[in-house]
Amino acid sequence: MALQIFGIPVSRGVAVGRAVLMSSARLDVAHYFVDPGQEEQEVDRLRAARQAVRAELDALQTELPQDAPAELSAFIDVHKMLLDDPQIGRETAVWIRRRRYNAEWALTAQLEVIGRSFDEMDDSYLRERKADVEQVVERLLRALRGTGGLARGMSSDEDLVLVAHDISPADMMQFKQGVFRGFVTDVGGKTSHTAIVARSLDIPAVVGAREASRLIRQDDWVIIDGDGGLLIVDPSPIILEDYRVRKQESSLARERLKRLKNTPARTLDGQMVELLANIELPDDCDSALQSGAAGVGLFRTEFLFMNRAHDLPGEEEQFEAYRHVLQSMQGRPVTIRTIDIGADKPLDTEADHRDGDFTHLNPALGLRAIRYSLSDPAMFRVQLRALLRAASFGPLRILIPMLAHVGEIRQTFALLDTARAELTSSGQSYGPVEVGAMIEVPAAVLMLPLFLKSFDFVSVGTNDLVQYTLAIDRADESVAALYDPLHPAVLQLLGQTITQSHAAESWKGRAVHVSVCGEMAGDPSLTRLLLGLGLRSFSMHPAQILSVKQEVLRADCARLAPLAKAVLAEFEPEGQQRALAALTA
Ligand code: PEP
Ligand code: MG
Repeated sequence: MALQIFGIPVSRGVAVGRAVLMSSARLDVAHYFVDPGQEEQEVDRLRAARQAVRAELDALQTELPQDAPAELSAFIDVHKMLLDDPQIGRETAVWIRRRRYNAEWALTAQLEVIGRSFDEMDDSYLRERKADVEQVVERLLRALRGTGGLARGMSSDEDLVLVAHDISPADMMQFKQGVFRGFVTDVGGKTSHTAIVARSLDIPAVVGAREASRLIRQDDWVIIDGDGGLLIVDPSPIILEDYRVRKQESSLARERLKRLKNTPARTLDGQMVELLANIELPDDCDSALQSGAAGVGLFRTEFLFMNRAHDLPGEEEQFEAYRHVLQSMQGRPVTIRTIDIGADKPLDTEADHRDGDFTHLNPALGLRAIRYSLSDPAMFRVQLRALLRAASFGPLRILIPMLAHVGEIRQTFALLDTARAELTSSGQSYGPVEVGAMIEVPAAVLMLPLFLKSFDFVSVGTNDLVQYTLAIDRADESVAALYDPLHPAVLQLLGQTITQSHAAESWKGRAVHVSVCGEMAGDPSLTRLLLGLGLRSFSMHPAQILSVKQEVLRADCARLAPLAKAVLAEFEPEGQQRALAALTA
């Protein structure tokens, strides 16, 4: 019988493919398909790497000092033996020939297979030899580096899905070129940044599937049901057929939605709603425009800094990236958030570890987002200068993440002034910007008047607002069931933020623009509730825009407002469910 594994659905749709198992540590090797007909050349590349490693080991052995312990030479012999083992040579070549994996990928795939057979050994001495195999593979990977891979074909004859214990957001970004049809991880929550990137790739994904990477084997057939959070391993032909039909139906439904692209997002009672895109990289502007986004509501700039440990982007590179976004969006408003490094998005530079071994700390409550930027004002000013310069090329809003203290607000504005002064003194031009705050911690809601007085706009980061209100780590699957965007406390905070932002008109002379850019904004099942709470600006992954627009077109805000108010009045699940059902009726 087919094995079923349950996890947390994070990115919709169905993927069917063969499993590629990979340990997190090896996700950063290149993954691409060699072009058909080039397989033998890639096998030669692997062969050359094996020869290079053999020469390296021979040299090591001859250079051993006379008085070196005899075990050292025996140890090198073991490595040489492993290098010649058909499991590493011949079997790795099979991945290249049969799947057209590049040599590095083939090696790591084969390492997973060998690793498992070691794990299953009864003899603890033999089990520990796994480390030797890993060391030999590491040497081979190093030898392959710089030996110039072949032309990269992007398609495979067979669909593949990636199964890993964990995938960091940075590693996930590497899969943007579309090697895999779906993703599965043992750990993670619905709004972890890995899940967010999977959603932005618009590829079915299930996280928090606990034992998946142990239970699924290399090359197993797997169905990923990204809507139901279900994995089916080695499905029967009937189940497989059923899912293939579902897949077709869901792509047909998506095709139909595309007709809404140019329809104005106006409710039945004539309220205009702004549907904006969340992006991670400048090139995502294409998908934003294709989905009919009215602008960019959140550009998570930290992704520009990832996979760049020793070569962080400087002012020019950042300026070009921001200008590119503004120009691509052709006059539509663009909201660029200053870096939100930390928590589940570490930079992994030495500076990241400046407070010692931070794995012992709680990074979600630590040096993150604006705190990180303010801890390195020189780096922050580089980003602010790049942003101010880019502002000459289109309407730019700068968004500051995770503010909670008045001191942080003051320092941010002071650094903005300094950045402007630096540009003036170096004779560089810059444009006007609006400055906004993310509302992500309950403290910000409780002192909202200060935020509304200080900023031009606010944007509610519900992913973090839920995390910090309920004290639930958004990336931890063991508490995922308690991560509830509909928790009455979260809804109170959200409702207050929207109402008070509008009410600023009475004392500030104008309402403060408020939007939601957390994952709640892109969930069509919540669109009516948010409209009822008064929200008129939503920012989400481009892939979600048309589904949310469909809900907007069917909504009547005048009818929804009292119904949403009734939801806010309920603190117990039964009552809340009744009130929510009335909203969707
Ligand atoms: C949020 O917290 O809701 C948000 C949009 O920011 P991020 O998901 O990047 O933390
Ligand atoms: Mg956030």
